[in-house]
Amino acid sequence: MIGLISATAAGAAARDRLAAAWPERTRVYEGPVGQAVRAAFAECEQLVCFLATGAVVRLLAPLLAGKAADPGVVCVDEGGRFAVSLLGGHGGGANALAREVGAVLGAEPVVTTATDAAGLPGLDTLGLPYEGSVAAVSRALLDGEPVALEAEVAWPLPPLPVAAEGAYTIRVTDRAVTAGEREVLLRPPSLVVGVGASKGAPAEEVLGLVEEALREAGLSPRSVAELATVDAKAGEPGIVAAAERLGVPLVTYSAGELAAVEVPNPSEAPLAAVGTPSVAEAAALVRGGELLVPKRKSGARPAMATCAVVRRPGRGRLAVVGLGPGARDLLTPRAAAELRRASVLVGLDQYVDQIRDLLRPGTRVLESGLGAEEERARTAVAQAREGHAVALIGSGDAGVYAMASPALAEASDDIDVVGVPGVTAALAAGAVLGAPLGHDHVSISLSDLHTPWDVIERRVRAAAESDLVVTFYNPRSRGRDWQLPKALGILAEHRDAGTPVGVVRNASRADESARITTLAALDPATVDMMTVVTVGNTATRNIAGRMVTPRGYRWQEDPR
Ligand code: SAH
Repeated sequence: MIGLISATAAGAAARDRLAAAWPERTRVYEGPVGQAVRAAFAECEQLVCFLATGAVVRLLAPLLAGKAADPGVVCVDEGGRFAVSLLGGHGGGANALAREVGAVLGAEPVVTTATDAAGLPGLDTLGLPYEGSVAAVSRALLDGEPVALEAEVAWPLPPLPVAAEGAYTIRVTDRAVTAGEREVLLRPPSLVVGVGASKGAPAEEVLGLVEEALREAGLSPRSVAELATVDAKAGEPGIVAAAERLGVPLVTYSAGELAAVEVPNPSEAPLAAVGTPSVAEAAALVRGGELLVPKRKSGARPAMATCAVVRRPGRGRLAVVGLGPGARDLLTPRAAAELRRASVLVGLDQYVDQIRDLLRPGTRVLESGLGAEEERARTAVAQAREGHAVALIGSGDAGVYAMASPALAEASDDIDVVGVPGVTAALAAGAVLGAPLGHDHVSISLSDLHTPWDVIERRVRAAAESDLVVTFYNPRSRGRDWQLPKALGILAEHRDAGTPVGVVRNASRADESARITTLAALDPATVDMMTVVTVGNTATRNIAGRMVTPRGYRWQEDPR
C-alpha cells in the first residue's frame, strides 16, 4: 500500500489525482501532518508526501530503521513539478515510484541514486513488446551486476550497460522461446507475414494458417510487424480481420511490384487471378529479408489461404546531431534526447568531450581526431547499417561545414536518417555582436584545403558585389594567413573603410570574446580558427556598441 500525505490545498489536489489514478494501491492519510506521516510510515510499504523534503526528513529521522526495512518515500513539491525519490531508492522502490508518480502528475522524477542518475533506460520503455523478469533484470542493471545482451536480431536499441556474459540476460529475439527466470525478452517487429486468399476466405482460416505457420517455425506472434498482400486483396475481409486480430497493419503492393520479386514457389493460379505468380512469398519478400517459412496453404479443403514468413533485418538509425556552438544551454533538448537514444556515438574527440556527461552508460563511443572526416562518416553509416542507433555529432549545426554531407553521401536507403539542427557559430556570434544578420547574408569558409582558392575568391567577390553581409568561417590558421586579408580586401573594394566588422572567438564558450571593429582597422593577426568574422554590408552600423544591419533599405533606392 502507498500512503499519501499532504498539507496544503495544492498538495491535496495532486494527492487526489494520484489517489484517483491508483485507487487500489493508495491510501490517503488525513489529519495533522506529523501524525499522518508516522502512521503511514508504520503501515505502508511506500509513502508519497506532498510536502517539502525538509519537513519529511525531520519527521522521518527518528523513525528510520535501515535500508532493508524502511519504506520507500517520494516527495512532491507544492507546484507538482518534481517527484523526489527521498528514501529507499532501490530497496523501497522509491526511484521507480518517483518515475511512476512523475508520469501520473506530469512531474519530473528526481533520482539521486548513482546508478539511476546514470540514466538507464527502462526495459519496459524501449517501445518493444517484452516478456520476462523486467524487475529482476532492471535491478541487476541498476546494481551493476553483469547483464548480457543477446541480440539474435540486430535492432536499434538505446545503450544498455551490458557485459559479454552475465547471470542475467536481455534477449532480442523473434523466436517463440519463453523467458528464463533472470531474463527479459524484447520482441523486435522483425517478421513480415505475406498472405494470399481466395475471394471469401474466412478470417479463421487466414488467421489459423498464420498462427500455425509461426508456431511450427518457432516464431513469436509478438514479433509480427505487418501482414502484406497484393493491392487487389486490400479489402479481402478474411485478411483484414486477421491483421486486426493480430493487431498489426495490413500493407499492400501492386501486382507489378510483386511480379518482379524472385520467389522460390511461383504458381499459375495467382498469375491468372491477380497478375503476379506469387502473392504470399512476394509480398513478404518485397522489402527484402530472409524467407523463414516458404509458401504454405491452409489445411482446409479447398485451401483458400496461403502465407509465407520473412525476417526483415532491423533498420539502423543515423541521427546527425548539431551540438550548438559550445554552451550547454544552446544544445537543443532534441539533440540531448538523440544523444541518449543512440547506442553508438561517432564524432571528433573534442566534441565528444563537450557532451560526454549526457551519454547513457553503455554508449559505445567511436571518437577520432581532426581530419578523419570521411572515415568518421563511413564508420557512422556502417554502424547504422549493422542495425544500431547511431548519433554522428558536429559542433554548431552538423550540416554546416560538417559531417552531415559526407555521411549522407555515403548512406544508402536501408537506414533511417534523422537530422537535428543546431545553433551555428554564425548565429551564436551574431547574437553576441547585436543584429548583424538582419538582412541577406552568406557564410564563406576561407579554408582552401578542400576548395580551390579561386572558387572561394569568386564567391567573396560575388558577395562583395551583391552587398551581402558575410560571415567568414575557418578564417585563419597558422598555415593559412593570407586568405583573410585578401578576402577583406575584396570586400573593401565595394564597402567603406568604416564598415563594421564583428570578430567573435569561442562564441558561447567559457573564454568567449568579441569585438566590433571596421574593415580598415581589423588586424587579421587577432583572428584564429576558433573565430568567426562577420563583415557588415553598406547599411550596417555600429549603434551603441552593437553591430546592426537594418532589415530593409528600400528607402535608399526608392525615389519616393
Ligand atoms: N558546423 C559548425 C562549423 C564548423 S567549421 C557550425 O555550424 O558552426 C569550424 C569553424 O567554425 C571554426 O574554424 C570557426 O570559424 C567556426 N566556429 C565553430 N564554433 C565556433 C564558436 N563557438 N565561436 C566562434 N567560431 C566558431
